[in-house]
Amino acid sequence: MAVERTLTILKPDCVRKNLAGEVTKRIQEAGFKILAMKLTRLTKETAGGFYAVHKERPFYGELVEFMSSGACVPMILEKENAIEDFRTLIGATNPSEAAEGTIRADFADSVGENIVHGSDSVENGKIEGAYFFSEAEVIANNS
Ligand code: ADP
Repeated sequence: MAVERTLTILKPDCVRKNLAGEVTKRIQEAGFKILAMKLTRLTKETAGGFYAVHKERPFYGELVEFMSSGACVPMILEKENAIEDFRTLIGATNPSEAAEGTIRADFADSVGENIVHGSDSVENGKIEGAYFFSEAEVIANNS
């Protein structure tokens, strides 16, 4: 299987609920290496740009408000089969449909406030990683 990179964001609900440590631990225990990570607060413009693909959706305004409502933690993660394995780890977008033991099933309150983002393809992983991090901020992590 190919080594892939995915971009995750520990969303503002995750940080507000003091779950950033617990969720990061689960990510690392599942075998993902952290290549880049920061605590930041998105502006509405940055959040809106990140989710531009959803611009026409009814929930876009709410999503942009939420994603800019507090601190969040974007990270670039690396692992074999990272895209699919990360989405398996976090569970379905709607936590009420997420499999038992997944991060969203365990911690998320609603489809809007669902704790984490995960890239949906290798190509989007690259685009999303570059949205938050310069090349110099991506660290080779052999640990
Ligand atoms: P995912 O984050 O699982 O890839 P999507 O790309 O479909 O899911 O949606 C992006 C984000 O938009 C979701 O994680 C969620 O925060 C929000 N969202 C999606 N669908 C809804 C909805 N019906 N109502 C409110 N927010 C939503």
